Amino acid sequence: MRLNLRWPSRAEDRFEKWIAQRHQERVLAGETTPQGPCPGEDFLKRLARKSRDIRLSDPRVDHAATCPACMRRLLTMRREHRSRQQKIMVATAVATCVVIAAVITVARHEMQKHSLATNSAVVAETVNLWDAGAFRGQQPGQLQSVTLPAARIRLTIILPRFSSPGQYVVAVTHGPDENGLITEAASTTANRGQQETLSVDLDLRRARAGQYYLSTTHERDQASYYYPLQIR
Ligand SMILES: [Zn+2]
Repeated sequence: MRLNLRWPSRAEDRFEKWIAQRHQERVLAGETTPQGPCPGEDFLKRLARKSRDIRLSDPRVDHAATCPACMRRLLTMRREHRSRQQKIMVATAVATCVVIAAVITVARHEMQKHSLATNSAVVAETVNLWDAGAFRGQQPGQLQSVTLPAARIRLTIILPRFSSPGQYVVAVTHGPDENGLITEAASTTANRGQQETLSVDLDLRRARAGQYYLSTTHERDQASYYYPLQIR
């Protein structure tokens, strides 16, 4: 049904085009007689772009449609206009492709970064503080320095001699106080012979290489012990 409706209109288009072409040939061959003088370049330009503000009753339209010089100029302008529009379309398409490619590249990069972060392996580390001195509050003692990588760490801490069993909070901070907390985790001691050990998961991936503090705080004691920590 739709096809049937389309056929006559296509045939009409072809017929109209043919008439227009025949008319054009006649004008260019000088077989028509134009009325009045040739209109200015500006008017022909607007006519070539099919400007809607030009009324067909305008006598200049009638002239341009019958004058070989104006017709030639119109055809040239129409071709230039079309090629300019094609260039704009190509440029727009190229710009769109560039934007899409950029978005895809950025998205891929972000996904890679994300998967790298989520897939990074957990590193097992042991810190032996059995013979360690530490800060208790602000009192400096004999210090044991600890080194850890900037990664996800399953950290086993062998607590200093005479440490009480029970629950501890293990924290990594910028300074020897609770300010500048990087990460913390709670854990209950396990007994290994004479030694009390703690096992905690710490995420140090966001910490930059540098000096930090590792602290342990017993649930009952509440005073924290600070050990200088080097993150590499
Ligand atoms: Zn003319």
